[in-house]
Amino acid sequence: MAITLDIARDNPNAPTVTGIAASASPQDEKPTLIGLTREELAEAMAEIGVPEKQRRMRASQLWHWLYVRGVSDFALMTNIAKDLRAKLDEAFTIARPEIVSEQISVDGTRKWLFRFPARGAGRPVEVETVYIPEEGRGTLCISSQVGCTLTCTFCHTGTQKLVRNLTAEEILSQILIARDRLGDFPDASTPQGAIVPSEGRLVSNIVMMGMGEPLYNFDNVKKALLIASDGEGLSLSKRRITLSTSGVVPEIVRAGEEIGCMLAISLHAVRDDLRDVLVPINKKWPIKDLLNACRAYPGLSNAKRITFEYVMLKGVNDSNQDALDLVRLLKGIPAKINLIPFNPWPGSEYECSDWERIEEFADIVNRAGYASPIRTPRGRDIFAACGQLKSASERMRKKDREAAAGAGA
Ligand code: SAH
Ligand code: SF4
Repeated sequence: MAITLDIARDNPNAPTVTGIAASASPQDEKPTLIGLTREELAEAMAEIGVPEKQRRMRASQLWHWLYVRGVSDFALMTNIAKDLRAKLDEAFTIARPEIVSEQISVDGTRKWLFRFPARGAGRPVEVETVYIPEEGRGTLCISSQVGCTLTCTFCHTGTQKLVRNLTAEEILSQILIARDRLGDFPDASTPQGAIVPSEGRLVSNIVMMGMGEPLYNFDNVKKALLIASDGEGLSLSKRRITLSTSGVVPEIVRAGEEIGCMLAISLHAVRDDLRDVLVPINKKWPIKDLLNACRAYPGLSNAKRITFEYVMLKGVNDSNQDALDLVRLLKGIPAKINLIPFNPWPGSEYECSDWERIEEFADIVNRAGYASPIRTPRGRDIFAACGQLKSASERMRKKDREAAAGAGA
């Protein structure tokens, strides 16, 4: 994710686990029940002949097993009769996607490479998801698309064409499988497994800051986040879910109204001429329009602020004047400012600002009354940076292939 990982510091010794079996049978051609609304689940029950009177109740039972207990095998759904479980298994799947690899950084950051099956005429796709443990909380950074149609010049994902949107199932699966691997679901077979703990969850926060522009995949992102925040399921508070956008202005207020999560804006520049270059969507929706959409975001208050992300690019957007303009621009908007040290990638034309410059910039922002955390580097040794996700995975796999070839020789 954006947060700060420096690929120049690759650590070849970081543990990589490859070919971990999914927790149930590998995903097959059967339609999935993950990512369906309750109504759609009830329709699925109709398809396999569940009488109308029972459909809603069965849908609730399934919801509970899928999202509270986190099971990925119908056989574990003990309050559903055996013959119905068999029918479900015949018609549908709830298996997790394949984990291609899992890497664990020396600082506890984890990165997974997941493979999702082909959709239609396409090929299987690979997506990376990053988990960042912190004192008292843990943040999962998830992807919304494979590649991106936008071309922000400092972001490596932006150099890759959009392969496709992820489905609601694929967005949710990133959360489910991360919780499996972290042991963050209760033991499904115990009575405690029926309750969502209010404290101590390892995945306590979600950020849509992986690959892709979430507001260009609005319907699937909305569906997945509404399921993730459902109080009878995964129960992640909407206050702990943050959607980051480069500035798809017409969808911003809609996201607030229909999803209701926290908002982050990839601002990165305070002048249109520069933002046109760094975040080219600015040519369509310039800073003024973007900030007006932010002002209209529903429910803003000092307790519910918008996060403005600002990547620190040496000699490009990091002057004291930029900092002063930034605080002037955001006046009147309940805001937090996140300064992100630039994560370089091969062939990128930018450098990260010097540390002293970042601190001076942060001081100006602080003096204006904003807390402006500088995101500290995490998981550097496993290439977990945003904007580098896909390329890093390709490189990692090449390394794995070479290692495998070496071992076989
Ligand atoms: N497409 C969405 C969300 C994914 S990018 C968006 O642009 O907001 C998540 C964050 O990472 C954005 O703020 C993005 O600008 C930032 N980012 C991308 N590449 C980066 C890099 N190389 N170094 C630091 N931050 C980067
Ligand atoms: Fe896409 Fe966000 Fe990267 Fe821009 S910063 S290219 S919108 S992923």
